[in-house]
Amino acid sequence: ASDSQQAKPGLLGRLMGRTAKPTVRRTLDDDMLEQLEELLISADMGVDTALRVTANMAEGRFGKKLSVSEIKELLAAEVGRIMEPVARPLPIYAKTPQVVLVVGVNGSGKTTTIGKLASQFRAAGKKVVIAAGDTFRAAAVEQLQVWGDRAGVPVLTAAQGSDPASLAFDAMGRAQEEGADLLLIDTAGRLQNRGDLMEELAKIVRVIRKKDETAPHNTLLVLDATTGQNAVNQVKVFQEISAVSGLVMTKLDGTAKGGVLVALADRFGLPIHAVGVGEQIDDLSPFDPQEFADALVG
Ligand code: GDP
Repeated sequence: ASDSQQAKPGLLGRLMGRTAKPTVRRTLDDDMLEQLEELLISADMGVDTALRVTANMAEGRFGKKLSVSEIKELLAAEVGRIMEPVARPLPIYAKTPQVVLVVGVNGSGKTTTIGKLASQFRAAGKKVVIAAGDTFRAAAVEQLQVWGDRAGVPVLTAAQGSDPASLAFDAMGRAQEEGADLLLIDTAGRLQNRGDLMEELAKIVRVIRKKDETAPHNTLLVLDATTGQNAVNQVKVFQEISAVSGLVMTKLDGTAKGGVLVALADRFGLPIHAVGVGEQIDDLSPFDPQEFADALVG
């Protein structure tokens, strides 16, 4: 194994021992499968998905002797097969302004992701407007303004505690008047009172549709990879309170194994538009399913 693999052993590194050579062979038996399942579960993949992945990779190979690198390739291929269909960048529509509603619990990385997205689209020559729709959190509005300055994108704000829908309506008008390509709308992330949040989001949607009945064109759910299997629950809840159209997974640069992405893809099939890989403005990457699968099983 190389130094870098020894520094951060992947799943199989841990199963076979860090010094296991790629050519070491082991029999694919019940014991081996159970260990593989446990490893996948420990990487946040969830029980159902872990069982499906191992069962698929074992099909037709049970009792055979496989080398470490063969097991690695087979597992990565299974994971890749689940992830391939969901790896899709944010679709760009001809109709402008394209309205993107950004939802997620506080702390998931909504503000940061909006700043990164604004910067990327602006760099691509698009005219972007941001609406600071979490009007109750002064800190969130301030933070968004900082990101807007960095990205060179105007951030529309309203007085603290004012109606987010009214701000969204004004922002919609401004984006249309200015001929903006993209309007990114931040929203509150208070899940404590689900009913209130649902009403708030529904009202935002209602008023922006007065200006464009096809809006919002995307509802992006931002998830924090470090919350592990919790992310599954957040998708369920946000699907109940809004029409989630795609995901961004943040904080994949940390210790999070990111296996929950496989569980999400397996269970919901929602597109993963991008992944957050750091706190800086350029730290938003397209989701690469094969690279992800290789890194996960490593
Ligand atoms: P919000 O409450 O959902 O708006 O979350 P923020 O955008 O304020 O992010 C919460 C914290 O997570 C901040 O400290 C961010 O710097 C951090 N953060 C956001 N995205 C990433 C990421 O991809 N990687 C890392 N390491 N930190 C992130």
